[in-house]
Amino acid sequence: TPHRTLTHPEALEALRNFLKERSSYDVFPVSFRLIVLDTQLKVKKALDVMLLYGVVSAPLWNTSTAKFAGMFTVQDVIHLIQYYYHTSSWEGATADVEQFRLHSIRDIEKALVVPPPPLLSVHPLRPLYDACRYLIRTHARRLPLIDRDTQTGGEVVISVLTQYRVLKFIAVNCRDITQYLTASVQEMGIGSYVSPESNPDPTNNPNKYYPLATATMQTTVFDVVHMFSEQGISAVPIVDSDGKVLNLYETVDVITLVRNGAYQSLDLTISQALKQRAVDFPGVVTCSPKDSLSAIFSLIKIRRVHRLVVVQGRDDPNPGRLVGIISLSDIMRALIGHDIPLGGAGVGAEVVDKAL
Ligand code: ADP
Repeated sequence: TPHRTLTHPEALEALRNFLKERSSYDVFPVSFRLIVLDTQLKVKKALDVMLLYGVVSAPLWNTSTAKFAGMFTVQDVIHLIQYYYHTSSWEGATADVEQFRLHSIRDIEKALVVPPPPLLSVHPLRPLYDACRYLIRTHARRLPLIDRDTQTGGEVVISVLTQYRVLKFIAVNCRDITQYLTASVQEMGIGSYVSPESNPDPTNNPNKYYPLATATMQTTVFDVVHMFSEQGISAVPIVDSDGKVLNLYETVDVITLVRNGAYQSLDLTISQALKQRAVDFPGVVTCSPKDSLSAIFSLIKIRRVHRLVVVQGRDDPNPGRLVGIISLSDIMRALIGHDIPLGGAGVGAEVVDKAL
């Protein structure tokens, strides 16, 4: 039955009700593959397995306690690289990162004072709405679904819920609701936006794009890795001197470099590193600040979108100029509510993994 015309708040309410009536199980196809990594594995082995199966994260399993042991994500690898760059010789770092066993990562992350791999999980039959509330709180941006074996009472990792899967599920199934999300993304404050006026200290912080982290083609990969690690973000727009967006460098790109065996390649410039990108790189998805959330859901429906770079539209004085960035967590927060600390606000933003 077709909906009557909905106002923006009514459409949001309808989406939340939809999520309350579904469970995480509904999001998954009938059959899927799940890669779980033993905490005894060495980092190198783990990376090989992840690259082989084309996944960028995996739940960890502690065999001795027979328990889920947190999520291993690209962000963890970024922290490792960051740590070794500061603590050991460069040649030693290469070898050390790879020899490390997954269970030791927590110690490094403690030393770095970055949030530990979150242990947060949810039962697959809980309402999808609750799972989404957890999803926006975990800096891993993915939530393992854990059930109990009725025979043994032991934990069973069923699958991993990601923001992308949830938003795709909504985009595919809720067109009759999302079409009413007509306010523009910037109006709704979805995403992070350049605000030169509010740069708190323009003399010491000459970043024209404050509070956005950006890089140029001449920035080194290592400097970008530092931004990823320090600010808890997973992508940085690459701009020219006029602020025009040329590309986007992502945490997954660093993993590709590492796979190619060249930790030294962190000394490459972004321009050089981009040449190593896989030929099937899907491209950078952009939108205008005037686009509606409805339009963004239409994009998510047809493309594999992980974030959108917001650029000035064709009718603006500087078409293509960087305006902002919208991550999937920004969209999730807009749908679920704003009572949650932001993941990109830097280290320490994530305080309550276990306190839920
Ligand atoms: P997600 O949380 O979906 O994995 P990110 O880690 O990229 O995405 O983003 C986390 C938060 O940081 C979001 O609120 C996003 O708007 C913001 N953010 C993303 N990229 C940048 C950037 N380059 N500079 C500043 N903030 C960013």
